[in-house]
Amino acid sequence: MREAGVREMGAETPLPRLEVAELRHVRLPMVVPFETSMGRLNERDAFLIRLRADGLEGWGEAAAWRDPSFSYETVETCFYAAERYLLPLLFSAAQPAARGIDSLLTPVRGYPMAKAALETAAADLAARAQGISLSRWLGGSSAEVIVGISLGIEASHEALLGRIEQAVAKNYRRAKIKIRPGWDLAVVEAIRRRWPDLPISVDANSAYTLADRELFKALDAHGLVTIEQPLRHDDLVDHADLQSGLVTPVCLDESLASLADLEAAIRLKSCRMVNLKPGRVGGLRQSLAVHDLCHDQGLALFCGGMLETGIGRAANLAIASLKHFRIASDLSESARYFARDLVDPPFRLTERGTLAVPAGPGIGVTIDEGELERRTVTCHSFTRSELAGAQA
Ligand code: MG
Repeated sequence: MREAGVREMGAETPLPRLEVAELRHVRLPMVVPFETSMGRLNERDAFLIRLRADGLEGWGEAAAWRDPSFSYETVETCFYAAERYLLPLLFSAAQPAARGIDSLLTPVRGYPMAKAALETAAADLAARAQGISLSRWLGGSSAEVIVGISLGIEASHEALLGRIEQAVAKNYRRAKIKIRPGWDLAVVEAIRRRWPDLPISVDANSAYTLADRELFKALDAHGLVTIEQPLRHDDLVDHADLQSGLVTPVCLDESLASLADLEAAIRLKSCRMVNLKPGRVGGLRQSLAVHDLCHDQGLALFCGGMLETGIGRAANLAIASLKHFRIASDLSESARYFARDLVDPPFRLTERGTLAVPAGPGIGVTIDEGELERRTVTCHSFTRSELAGAQA
């Protein structure tokens, strides 16, 4: 049944009969460490799901990191939720449709990133079975997505300006600067002296409070694209207070953990821009609903990134191919993060500052199985009989 405000995606055909689910923890070294107000990331741990059916496979990647910094979900909690609860629900269903996976998983509260990974794997499988791209399956229309680069905290202003110089030379369409107390206004002033018109946004990852109002008024004078998640990770009320005194749009990321949060943020006027991360809001179908609501309410949105491998990046690009994504998304090319990605070929930036939306069946990427094995920390496979039996 259709929920109010949530449109359907894909065809109504059931998923091919699922045979095996594989859960995998991988660890990829970062080309350069990524530092934010939440800490420093030297390697990216990721959780992957592979579903096998009818000689086909479907892939999903969770947005979760190794530690509960951005979100309470981690690679370990994804393993736990998927093995113990989510896969048994999916494998016990008589004839699940890929477009109804989020509804099937509602008996389990929370774990949006684990659910999104499983829903994406099912959608990838369904789209491959139909021979169409995930983008088309979702109703996407863009062949390429304009992208920006997200830049972490560096040892010095000069080091950051050097990174921006490289990004500008590569034609990235926006630079997003991570800020925290002590690395904020002076950094933006230094950037503006060098690039008066470059589209710049700042992302605080919840490092400030309303006591820092004067700082945000000072940032407001610099023509930023947006000030992202300045206040507490689960707040909407203080953000509304801050937004009311600023010309610059406040963008919410962490605070929007669901479609219902976005509805509340709209009523409270907590933001004028939305960073959509499918994992954070519980998957593809919920993302479609967020996209549609932003469109209806005139809120600008872009697709966020969690430093995903090429598997998660491919699914994010499929979402970002929907028509209301008009500002640069935080989806850089593979080489910005990893010396070697898990997909071959890796994602490469075009000279227009865009990434091509994969056009092949499903998420449209080929897994580099050798690199996947080299980067695997643990891998567990479960058969249909093991998973369906676990539900009893
Ligand atoms: Mg953010």
